[in-house]
Formats: sequence, C-alpha cells, structure tokens
Amino acid sequence: MKITAPKGTRDILPSETPLWQLAAKNFAEVCHNFGYEEIRIPTFEDTNLFQRGVGDTTDVVQKEMYTFEDKGGRSITLRPEGTAGVVRSYIENGMSSLPAPVRMYYDITAFRYEKMQKGRYREFHQFGVEAFGSKGPEIDAEVISTVDIFFKKMGLKNIELRINSIGCPNCRKAYNEQLKDYFRPHISTMCADCQNRLERNPLRMIDCKVDGEKDIVKNAPRLIDHLCDECKEHFEALKTQLDAIGINYTIDPNIVRGLDYYTRTVFEFVSKNVGTQGTICGGGRYDGLVESVGGPATPGIGYAMGVERLLLELEAQGAAVAPKKNVQVYFVAMSDNAKDFITKTCYDLRVNGIGCERDLMGRAFRAQMKYAGKANIPYMCVIGDDELASGKLKIKNMTDGTETEVEASGLVAFFEGNGEE
Ligand code: ATP
Ligand code: MG
Repeated sequence: MKITAPKGTRDILPSETPLWQLAAKNFAEVCHNFGYEEIRIPTFEDTNLFQRGVGDTTDVVQKEMYTFEDKGGRSITLRPEGTAGVVRSYIENGMSSLPAPVRMYYDITAFRYEKMQKGRYREFHQFGVEAFGSKGPEIDAEVISTVDIFFKKMGLKNIELRINSIGCPNCRKAYNEQLKDYFRPHISTMCADCQNRLERNPLRMIDCKVDGEKDIVKNAPRLIDHLCDECKEHFEALKTQLDAIGINYTIDPNIVRGLDYYTRTVFEFVSKNVGTQGTICGGGRYDGLVESVGGPATPGIGYAMGVERLLLELEAQGAAVAPKKNVQVYFVAMSDNAKDFITKTCYDLRVNGIGCERDLMGRAFRAQMKYAGKANIPYMCVIGDDELASGKLKIKNMTDGTETEVEASGLVAFFEGNGEE
C-alpha cells in the first residue's frame, strides 16, 4: 500500500524552507520592535474553548473543526486558529495583572477541515499578534503597521489594506433589527446558511460566500453608516493615525466579523493578484472576547496571517532565498589514519561553530576529490601521511585554486576569519 500525505497537508521541502525561515525571522523581528513577545500555545484545546472563543455560529466551528474524543473521554479540538488559545492563556495565567498593554505574537500551525484549493489547506500556518488592555485607536494603527512593515521587509507588493468598523453591541443592536427587516422579504432567494443566519446573526449575511455578490447583499444597509458617536470617533481617529503614518487603505463596509465580541476596527490585507484566496491577513478588535471566555472585561485587538498565502504571493513575485549553507571546508582523507584525524578535527571545528564535512560514504580518495569538486564548499583540505607528520595543513580555496598553509592548531582561527557574518 502506498502511503501519501493526508489530503490538505503538504510537505515544506528543504528547497522551500529558507523562505519560511526568513519570513519567521522577519516577522519576529518586526514584532519585537513593537514590544511584542512570543507565546507558544498548545496544538489542541478543550472543544468548548473554540465554541465560545471563535463562536458557534461561525463556519469554522460549525463545519471546519477537527474534533475528537481522547482516550479519557474529553472532547478535544485541533486549534483552527490562535486567538482563542492565546485568550485562554491570558486568562489562565493571570496576565491581566501585568502592565498593560500585554502584547504577544505567535507562529503556529492551524487545522481546518476545508475543501483543499491553492492557498487553502487542512493544515496551514499562521503568524499573528494579540494585544490586550488598550482600547485604541493608537494600538489599532500599530497593529496594522506591524503587518505593513513586515510586508515591506519581505518585499511584498500589490497588497491592499481594507478597513472597516463594525461598531459595538450598542450600535449593532438597532442595525441588526434593520438588517433583518431588510433581508426578511428576500430570504427565500438566499442560501441555506443565510436562512439560518437571519435570526441568529444577520451581520454574517453581509460576507456570505454564496450570496455575497448578489445585489440584495450589496445594497443592504451598511453598519458603517449607523455607528454610535463613540465608535464613529474611534474609526475617524484610526484613519487619522493611518493617514499620519502614510499607510494607504480603502474602506470596505463588507468586512464583518459577525460575533458580538468583535467590535469596532476590522481589517484585511488582500492581494491584488489572486482571486478568492487573496486574503493574506485578517484581524480586528475584540473588546468582548476575554470576558466571553471567562476573564475580566479587557479590550483587545489582533490578527492572523496565512503564511502559505503570503509565500504563494511572494513566490508569484519571484522571491527566492538561497538555501543556508554553512559548510566551509571539506576534508579529504588519503589514508585510514587521516580519517581518524579528520574525525577529531571536524568535531573541534564544529564545536567552535565552524561548519565542515568529510566523507561518510566510504569513498576512495579519488571519489572524495570528485565529490569535493562538485560540492560547492569554499575550501578543501587533503590530509595524508605528510600532513599528519608535520601538522601543517594545506587549505585550498576552491574558487581561485590558491593554497594556504595552516598549522593544525590554527584551523579554527583561520576559518573564523572566513566565516559568514
Ligand atoms: P477565508 O475567508 O479565506 O476562508 P477566513 O476568514 O476563514 O479566510 P481567518 O479565520 O481570518 O480566515 O484566518 C486568517 C488568515 O488565515 C486568512 O486570511 C488566511 O490567510 C489564512 N487561512 C485561513 N484558512 C486557511 C486555510 N484553510 N488554508 C490556508 N490559509 C488559511
Ligand atoms: Mg475560512
């Protein structure tokens, strides 16, 4: 039986990992520059956490979770996203007593049972941040800037920032009623999901993937036109901040997160190139979330970025990173005695942080020379009886063919001067 990777998963091969490593390093650097620290959360959690923290009317919870019962009879779910786990950890570890804002970033895998497409997988990766304790809007602008600066650092172009405000439970109450009245006469023309949403969560009908392009949805009343004074002020102040920084954005009234604990600022970074899987990053403010998961009332804001989508976009723009090679010298053995010397010498170099290689295949002298010629390693050092007797080694520069004589005891010093910075 041929065993293949499960549907919706993919290997990230050694030829691809350099770009992944660069992205992770740049993301961490940007976060650190803003005062964020890394959090690592469990891969699986109590299923209840996602029902409460993601919301049991969402597609993610209703259709996409990997839920199973463990041997102890607990209902466990592989995390479909990071926010719920970070919020649980914030509460469980008493982080509300730390000086606010408490700012954390993460680099995680996430799992969703979805129909596999380009940029849509069942196991995927997210970079994200969460910031607790500040009402904004300055922090909203900072959170958005972390993405902007990270994209700049990666050289990512043609990305559009879309922002919206979805108000607070107060301004949404009246609006929801208005939306229900608006959709009710047309409900029979809408999809089954929307028919369910009408009474429970009409806001979600605005970003329905099935009905979203219909005029009935496009012409629906817009929450952005019905914000209360405080929410309006918050949104205006956010725009002023973004204008001051010089970050371009468009206002997109269709971005919604139809759950009560999502409030005010919502945003997406969308590629101008790709079609439906073009949303690289989505986030927003969730002033009611910590409380709804059982913690003290705490405002918060965050986002999650799909790393596969980010890299697809970068690759489409021709980004490539050379594999990281740290091997400086290849040792060729002319005799068995030389092999023992090489074993010890390689260890001494490596323990000092200098990369080296030697034959591991039992190749004869000529075959070792041939390998060294092709291996793309900057230096070669042939060890024979003369070298063992004199302790003087010849280091050949493989680019220009020149040779330098170095005492065996001076090898580390020689390569330290040639190392990568
Ligand atoms: P979509 O509308 O594309 O399904 P979403 O609203 O479900 O996205 P979020 O829950 O906001 O996405 O997750 C944040 C980001 O994670 C997305 O913008 C996307 O880049 C990425 N993402 C979400 N689901 C997947 C997936 N199945 N495979 C790869 N990336 C994903
Ligand atoms: Mg989705």
